[in-house]
Amino acid sequence: PIDNQADTKRVLLLKPRGFCAGVVRAVDIVKIALETFGAPIYVRKEIVHNRYVVDDLRQKGAIFVNELDEVPEGKRVIYSAHGVSPAVRERAKERGLKVVDATCPLVTKVHIEAIKFAKQGYSLVLVGHRDHEEVEGTQGEAPDVTQVVSTPEEVEALIVPDPNKVAYLTQTTLSLDEAATMIDALKKKFPNIVGPHAQDICYATENRQTAVKNVAHGADIVLVVGSRNSSNSNRLVEVSQNLGTVSYLIDKAEDIKPEWLDSKNTVAITAGASAPEVLVQEVVEYLQNKGYNSVEEVEVMPENVRFGLPPEIVQAIAAAP
Ligand code: SF4
Repeated sequence: PIDNQADTKRVLLLKPRGFCAGVVRAVDIVKIALETFGAPIYVRKEIVHNRYVVDDLRQKGAIFVNELDEVPEGKRVIYSAHGVSPAVRERAKERGLKVVDATCPLVTKVHIEAIKFAKQGYSLVLVGHRDHEEVEGTQGEAPDVTQVVSTPEEVEALIVPDPNKVAYLTQTTLSLDEAATMIDALKKKFPNIVGPHAQDICYATENRQTAVKNVAHGADIVLVVGSRNSSNSNRLVEVSQNLGTVSYLIDKAEDIKPEWLDSKNTVAITAGASAPEVLVQEVVEYLQNKGYNSVEEVEVMPENVRFGLPPEIVQAIAAAP
């Protein structure tokens, strides 16, 4: 053979990837609500941060709104997987809205911790991204005592009433390494700081990052399927880049620029927790058409998490004819 380059082009398909249990549950809730209550169903914010998923549900009859004031009085509204603050729940009551709560149970866990620490008189430091819906919701549980930080410099600048009575929490979808750096900085600044019993970063975020860490060194490029506003997807790109492997976030196969693949033999593919598998398969097909004929699934760890549906939905299914 003169040039067997084409034969060496391969795809590594990381596992676990894509939909987490919280996203499966949230998408199911909207679909079941549409089937049992009928369209239209209002959804506050994007149910999950993925353009394809949102467009698909919109076509099925979901109406996405930014705030509850856009929902007509007395209608039914679904809260997104990222959760809401008590102020939003209050507003829903005022407007007589019927609520279906698709908040991920692992986000609710962080809310419960915030309530507990605030009741015990702690100042709260929430490590996360200020403009993210999940952070807005968690901060809203104890807005008067919660400060949001996203850099060690912000930790350094923190001022609290009693440095010996500080607790920290984190967003569920942070980079594990960056969260560790932030928690170290917090412990240095407040040696008596307390935190959650188990980390707030969720299993899905951790597993997808661990899979990238395991494979990035053996890949020439890592493609992450996910939308721009998906926090955990962006973190996957960063994890790869921090290991020195070039990585891009793509919504779909058409986003791939052919020059990204120049002299790249091994392409690893993963997907954020809100990215559907159909989009991953389109990326695989695109690469196969470009001569990446070997596709190998690399399972870094098993993942079998499932969450039950909320009572509003369980009751609606039971009552359906
Ligand atoms: Fe829940 Fe984690 Fe999925 Fe967010 S990424 S919906 S916290 S399981």
